[in-house]
Amino acid sequence: MKKIQMTTPLVEMDGDEMTRILWKMIKDELILPFVDLKTIYFDLGLPERDKTDDRITVEAAEATKQYGVAVKCATITPNAQRMTEYNLHQMWKSPNGTIRSLLDGTVFRTPITIPSIKPAVKSWQKPITIARHAYGDVYKNVEIRAAQAGTAKLVFEGADGAKEEMVIHEFKGPGVLQGMHNTDKSITSFAHACFKFAIDSKQDLWFSTKDTISKKYDARFREIFDEVFEQYKSDFERLGIEYFYTLIDDAVARVIRSNGGFIWACKNYDGDVMSDMVSTAFGSLAMMTSVLVSPDGKYEYEAAHGTVTRHYYKHLAGETTSTNPMATIFAWSGALRKRGEMDNLPELVNYANQLEDACFDTLNDGIVTKDLVNLMEGIEPKAVSSADFMAAIRERLDRRMA
Ligand code: NAP
Ligand code: MG
Repeated sequence: MKKIQMTTPLVEMDGDEMTRILWKMIKDELILPFVDLKTIYFDLGLPERDKTDDRITVEAAEATKQYGVAVKCATITPNAQRMTEYNLHQMWKSPNGTIRSLLDGTVFRTPITIPSIKPAVKSWQKPITIARHAYGDVYKNVEIRAAQAGTAKLVFEGADGAKEEMVIHEFKGPGVLQGMHNTDKSITSFAHACFKFAIDSKQDLWFSTKDTISKKYDARFREIFDEVFEQYKSDFERLGIEYFYTLIDDAVARVIRSNGGFIWACKNYDGDVMSDMVSTAFGSLAMMTSVLVSPDGKYEYEAAHGTVTRHYYKHLAGETTSTNPMATIFAWSGALRKRGEMDNLPELVNYANQLEDACFDTLNDGIVTKDLVNLMEGIEPKAVSSADFMAAIRERLDRRMA
């Protein structure tokens, strides 16, 4: 068989532990036999990050800016225990955080759904994608625990000397206070990424805040979204998709009653909490995909889960594991499809679709990894190892590509 050709390379970011093992299996078994794969390879595994003083992560992000599409394996974010385990000379920052801030990107998380895994919410028929604004608010707050009675003030001193001052509260006794911020620049980037992703995935975009209560802070988010939307309005009309703003309370009620199939853009805290709720309600973390989109349209695909450490230690001890590779496979198919669309390579787009369909065929035949067994209804699932699961997908992909 003649392999499918690529014109522009993908930026490939390898990672750690069990997902690094799956990464190689996916490439060897499901991609390389079909695609003349071109990648620019960055090893973001923890040993290499330590060796390069984490320059490798920055280089990978820069390459993503240059080439436009990246695929990333899960990586360890070091903590105290990892310092000793990997003998690190610094507690390196989260690679995802570094890449996100260099690309100024927004993360979109979407569950992979199949008929035999029913979401906890009965009306949900299609996936719901959550877009979380990953800058500022309570995550960059300053807090004071007031030990006594006193006056709390909010003060802004402009670069030109203009000063604004307001009393937050006259404390009669001890209490707590908090200051937070966001920037027009970051909110604008968030809005662009959301509208671009809605157009890209041809889905409605919902945005919600609490602007009835927060009449300046949250209202600014709403205003910026309205302004930025003007640039995308005609594309939305052409595609027959909709942007609408609603209060967070109303959004929550509508989401629960909806059939799914839209993007829900959330402020930082709302997105943190709601993405956990939505992903749990859809079934399994192992079936959650994630894509980072920059305001200028660069894409980085990955799985939402981590490196599955517990399985990796079993693997090292010589045990066979049944780790679910679905989200990591879909990171590859998502990136290859995007590359195919950008470079006008219909064969590559078709391959990406066939790869995903071969995964669905496998699950719909009841061949699954262990994590899915108790979630499936209506068919008798058979749990297999990661390697056997991969082989079952390969068999179906061979048939589809023949
Ligand atoms: P995790 O790797 O997502 O795993 C947590 C648990 O979820 C696993 O022990 C497993 O449960 C289940 N699970 C997750 N993915 C699975 C899959 N594909 N197949 C089957 N089961 C799956 O989270 P963690 O253990 O908290 O974190 C491990 C490492 O990953 C940490 O070093 C963390 O820094 C890193 N991390 C990286 C990213 C990223 O790169 N995007 C994201 C999150 C965490 P059972 O053990 O019960 O089977
Ligand atoms: Mg959370």
